[in-house]
Amino acid sequence: MQSLPMSTGRVEIQIPGHFSQLLWPEHTYGLLSIVMTPGRRTRTIRIYCADCGCLLYKYQKGGPGRLVKCFKDRIVKDFTAGDLRCPDCGQEFARETMVYRRPANKIIQGKVTVRG
Ligand SMILES: [Zn+2]
Repeated sequence: MQSLPMSTGRVEIQIPGHFSQLLWPEHTYGLLSIVMTPGRRTRTIRIYCADCGCLLYKYQKGGPGRLVKCFKDRIVKDFTAGDLRCPDCGQEFARETMVYRRPANKIIQGKVTVRG
């Protein structure tokens, strides 16, 4: 990763690449990317059980790429009992973890389908 000169209009921030990974929580990146590219980096998606198609979460996804984890504070609506299992068929679809000191649910690949 190279240095990232960032301009939000009021402040200019220069971060060496490896420090930016270690010291910057992901939501800061998310906020910055919202400021810099309005409307392009977050979207609300729906997460379904891959087995039975039951709706599990409405989730505010930031950044490109496939869904790897769900930050709990970005879950817009939780249709589960909060036990990381499908309320319908009981399949476990995620594991609790911490990412950048924020509680998150790490998605078990293949257990969910995502529609945005
Ligand atoms: Zn299910």
